[in-house]
Amino acid sequence: MEQQIRCIGCGALIQSEDETKPGYAPKSVLEKEKEEVICQRCFRLKHYNEVQDVALTDDDFLKILHRIGQSEALVVKIVDIFDFNGSWLPGLHRFVANNPILLVGNKVDLLPKSVKYPKLIHWMKQSASDLGLKPIDICLVSAVKGIGMAKVMEAIEKYRFGKDVYVVGCTNVGKSTFINRIIQEATGKGNVITTSYFPGTTLDMIEIPLDDGAAIYDTPGIINHHQMAHFVDKKDLKIITPKREIHPKVYQLNEQQTLFFGGLARLDYIKGGRRSFVCYFSNELLIHRTKLEKADALYANQLGELLSPPRKHYIDQFPPLEAHTFTIKERKTDIVFSGLGWVTCNEPGAQVVAYAPKGVDILIRKSLI
Ligand code: GDP
Repeated sequence: MEQQIRCIGCGALIQSEDETKPGYAPKSVLEKEKEEVICQRCFRLKHYNEVQDVALTDDDFLKILHRIGQSEALVVKIVDIFDFNGSWLPGLHRFVANNPILLVGNKVDLLPKSVKYPKLIHWMKQSASDLGLKPIDICLVSAVKGIGMAKVMEAIEKYRFGKDVYVVGCTNVGKSTFINRIIQEATGKGNVITTSYFPGTTLDMIEIPLDDGAAIYDTPGIINHHQMAHFVDKKDLKIITPKREIHPKVYQLNEQQTLFFGGLARLDYIKGGRRSFVCYFSNELLIHRTKLEKADALYANQLGELLSPPRKHYIDQFPPLEAHTFTIKERKTDIVFSGLGWVTCNEPGAQVVAYAPKGVDILIRKSLI
């Protein structure tokens, strides 16, 4: 049997097969180093002050949550404000026991500039409460742009009371970017931090020491299987992931009209009189309007062409769209296509059918904007 080697940094089992999983070290490293092997993620942190995200299975993530529950620490939970529900990590509060949770909404740079932060924070507080979480505080940041970082670092200092900090979030929320920002701002450029290792653990966490002997722990990202990201290839992911401020597109629809969002999702407006629908999607994603009676045929003929992404060579693997029927009861309601975007309906009374690939959540919520 092959000998099992663990990373002397994070304790993950060393493997050379998958770069996105914990404990990855290239074969060439293993050939040179027989005893003291360090995984690529720990190597980058040690030498370049840079954390790299690795993904974890649900079971392993539970183990990590369990460890957090047994410690006294501040938990920093990161969500992607553009994909709030899809990036939520359900159940976290049940595991972290009495530890306070600081909720951080990342990617705020994507929202239209007209959005008021206090209103957004209020919305997050309400949504968190509906999902069973009462965070100690809420911060908005853009890890990429550096917006809100000083404030969030102050909040971390304030609420950790000298204790450790665990940063959690599902993959793609920008957790690595966030932690790299913190390291950068805390250490100054070129000032390489020294990581202190805790060998023998198997939890794949990376420790970033703080001045007072406590540490920030970067936990691996949990994969959220309902995200649209799992249904498209890398090139298409670039199209659907917004990079700049989103410009909402407004459609005045008559009853029996359909909007296609590329070929990834669809909204049929069934009944409710002529009204406007405001679409918040990546600026690069093309929205196509048609009559409902023509929609099925258009999809059958144009998927991968006019209705793209998914691109043509990928349509065989793309799952069929599944219908979800809603009657909009409240004013200012969002119809959310998890990980892709949302459509705001300003007045109640509309009957709609929303479509997404089987496995991708569609939900309605009180309008974010
Ligand atoms: P992780 O998987 O949670 O560690 O996420 P990464 O840090 O690797 O980021 C995932 C993607 O989100 C990358 O394409 C980042 O460039 C992007 N990203 C991270 N932070 C921000 C942000 O503040 N704004 C925007 N627009 N994109 C971000």
